[in-house]
Amino acid sequence: MDFRHAPRAIDLMARVTAFMDAHIYPNEERFEAEMASAATGDFRYPTFFRDLQQKARAAGLWNLFLPDPAHGMGLSNVEYAPLAEIMGRVYWAPEIFNCNAPDTGNMELLHDYGSEAQKARWLTPLLTAEIRSAYCMTEPAVASSDATNIATSIRRDGDHYVINGRKWWTTNGMHPHLGILIVMGLSNPEAPTHARHSQILVPVETGGVRILRHLPVFGFHEAPAGHVEVVFENVRVPADHLILGEGRGFEIAQGRLGPGRVHHCMRSIGAAERALEAMCRRLLARQAFGRPLCDQSVWEQRIGECRTQIEAARLLVYRTAWLMDEGGNRNARTEIAAIKVAVPRMFQEVVDTAIQAFGGAGVTDDFGLAGLYARARTMRLVDGPDEVHNRTIARLELKRYRTHTSTE
Ligand SMILES: Cc1cc2nc3c(=O)[nH]c(=O)nc-3n(C[C@H](O)[C@H](O)[C@H](O)COP(=O)(O)OP(=O)(O)OC[C@H]3O[C@@H](n4cnc5c(N)ncnc54)[C@H](O)[C@@H]3O)c2cc1C
Repeated sequence: MDFRHAPRAIDLMARVTAFMDAHIYPNEERFEAEMASAATGDFRYPTFFRDLQQKARAAGLWNLFLPDPAHGMGLSNVEYAPLAEIMGRVYWAPEIFNCNAPDTGNMELLHDYGSEAQKARWLTPLLTAEIRSAYCMTEPAVASSDATNIATSIRRDGDHYVINGRKWWTTNGMHPHLGILIVMGLSNPEAPTHARHSQILVPVETGGVRILRHLPVFGFHEAPAGHVEVVFENVRVPADHLILGEGRGFEIAQGRLGPGRVHHCMRSIGAAERALEAMCRRLLARQAFGRPLCDQSVWEQRIGECRTQIEAARLLVYRTAWLMDEGGNRNARTEIAAIKVAVPRMFQEVVDTAIQAFGGAGVTDDFGLAGLYARARTMRLVDGPDEVHNRTIARLELKRYRTHTSTE
């Protein structure tokens, strides 16, 4: 077992870190100031994003997530994971490298399952960050943890498909450059359960697509992307906008999620590292009852717990990424589910501890911890709640013994 990073990963880690130091951290205050207008519904594109994206591209730090060397750098999951962690230290940084969710997952989806025409029209401008995309699965009216419940209808009508339904928590819905929506819906209600749904491309300007409202997270606006509720009323798109074929929605959804979970988790680990760093600095800097806060023994215990939890989480994600590299996503089903439970919990706990260390300052907007807490909490829901992933783990675990018993 070799825990060292490959030379190529070490080189990229140094380059991404240098870019963060030179261009991302110095712009954090500016970003917050420019995005303040989102509170009044005015979602703007940060004025300095294009400039930084060009710099990232020129530095060869672009589309790092994509395993296809024709577009990205051909990095494995293990090689990309530490880069996602470094970018995740600032929540808007991944977009500067064109490595942000949900666009990464949507680009992978188009890359793996899109027709040549679909790729030319939508993947190409996504790869250059000219447009942004959204993934519309979750619906307010049904428990979307169970995707077989998805009820938005996709009905064939001559050379078109007609879409009717309501989605919410559509990330990127407020992005000023939103161009394309990938919509999951019910196309073949009579087919076997996992062959009833399809995924279809809907350009955002199509008639009948109506963004109803923006959904803040605990009052945070998460600009410039935002999350929205969107309604589809008799939306007609040409039949060639269907991805892969009727009834293949689940197949596509499964393929989309493996690497995305590694990315989410590594970004969360980067953010948790940052919270721990802020906590340590604060505890060193303030005194109570005649001693620095860090010398009150409870804080040693808490710092120790946070460090241990972060390290354990990171190792679990690396092992998951390695299993995926070795044998594909199916080779790591238990682990992909396990990281999606373990890492958001760790993230939430570390940020919660950091908030405690900051006292009242922790729950203001002044130190970024309140926003971080909101994001950590939502991570336990995004891409499926903890319970659904634990269910997957439990079923795989129990299967081992069921098989054993039945063959005895
Ligand atoms: C910030 C944010 C961004 C998001 N971005 C997107 C996006 O871009 N696109 C998109 O389509 N969706 C997105 N989502 C939606 C997210 O994926 C869903 O909220 C999630 O999958 C849960 O679905 P639901 O909200 O319908 O909850 P429900 O399915 O109603 O579940 C509610 C609760 O029931 C419990 N539960 C469910 N199943 C089980 C079980 N088997 N056993 C025990 N308990 C269970 C869980 O506690 C769960 O939290 C986003 C959500 C958030 C908060």
